Amino acid sequence: MNNDHLPENDLADAVILSVGAELITGEVVDTNTSWLARELETLGIRCRLHVTAPDAVDVVTREISRAAELASLVIVTGGLGPTADDLTRAALAFAAGVELVQDATALASIRAFFQRRGRDMPAENRTQALIPRGGRALRNDCGTAPGVFVKLGSAWCYALPGVPFEMRDMFTRVVRPELAARARGRLLRRRILHCCGMPESRLGDRLADLLRPGRNPAVGTCALTGVIDVRIRADAADEDEARRLLDETEAEVRERLGAVVYGVDDDTLASVVGRLLVARSATLSTAESCTGGLVAKMITDVPGSSRYYLGGGVTYANELKERVVGVEQELLVTHGAVSEPVAKAMAAGARSAFGSDYAVATTGIAGPGGATPGKPVGLVYCAVGTPAGVQVRRATLGDDVPREVVRQRAAYTVLNMLRLVLEQATE
Ligand code: ATP
Ligand code: MG
Repeated sequence: MNNDHLPENDLADAVILSVGAELITGEVVDTNTSWLARELETLGIRCRLHVTAPDAVDVVTREISRAAELASLVIVTGGLGPTADDLTRAALAFAAGVELVQDATALASIRAFFQRRGRDMPAENRTQALIPRGGRALRNDCGTAPGVFVKLGSAWCYALPGVPFEMRDMFTRVVRPELAARARGRLLRRRILHCCGMPESRLGDRLADLLRPGRNPAVGTCALTGVIDVRIRADAADEDEARRLLDETEAEVRERLGAVVYGVDDDTLASVVGRLLVARSATLSTAESCTGGLVAKMITDVPGSSRYYLGGGVTYANELKERVVGVEQELLVTHGAVSEPVAKAMAAGARSAFGSDYAVATTGIAGPGGATPGKPVGLVYCAVGTPAGVQVRRATLGDDVPREVVRQRAAYTVLNMLRLVLEQATE
């Protein structure tokens, strides 16, 4: 490879700049940036900033210049088309302080693109062969717009098409190998610890010193609906060092959070529960009211779940709670469907009706309506039936959150209860 254009400093960090009015208005979701950030991470290049700019040449020029001051690598996507609002090439030339010149090879390949389709090249497409002086055109195998490489001071700058599949093709084919040859030889590796059963604030308190900026591995928390992820990212010289750093920090996090950590990376609550059931050669069934089959869905999302999951019932109406899982009418009349005795009866009834070793049950008020005095929206009783009896929990999962959030939290709550029961039984 011709390395004339390589900067002295190694490529350690990057800014990704996406260009397009449709991104600014929110009509199109910027998928290019997240894809690129992950690709760069695999090369050991840390993304420092994402910027989205409208199709305005002054703004794009300014943001390109700023990015080149901030990081050793700048990747721009979008605005390479042939129309008047496609101004990335012009902005690159302004930022580099050079003029645009016609690139003969790029022009020939644009013309060839149209010839292959049996058409003459429209005049507007000539502009796509304009490259800032001193830069390079990057061949586009999927569309007309060539990419552009240009040096801005010591920073490398690549401009790629906005169309996601064209961008990915050009990055993979052209940019990635060039970056790999010059990346600083450090690895960024991550591990995610999945947690359930502790509020994010308390979890954050327990990890406070690990969360401080500048630590390696870096630790961060990310609250999702019903579960929390603790992300650990290591910057290391090689795979061994990365693994050692991740192992050390993982051990530290686990020591502080204990059984709150239910899994790593690709684990889900349902897959962990599945593993525990397989280890005990035990079977599971479900009786769901407010979750309407969501628990069954999560369980059966796991490949191989037929080894332990027998099935279940969405026993929404009282009549089905009686007929399918044998809840006594008297319990329903005395306590109401959303009550501890009914949840317990559903779990115990599912075990015997479906013939499983374990069963989980949910009954609650997902909202937005349906609250009664003493029974607010978000009140859910979760029960786990085991060979040793039934455990039940009264959970208040939020009276001001969307219905879907209550249902998801309820599903995670009951699966987490089952996980803890199985973990204890396995010890
Ligand atoms: P073209 O030669 O196709 O004009 P271009 O580089 O000018 O290429 P744009 O016109 O900016 O690309 O965008 C083309 C298409 O790609 C549009 O449908 C746009 O919504 C989509 N797109 C652009 N940028 C992004 C992005 N960051 N994430 C996802 N889609 C994008
Ligand atoms: Mg555009």
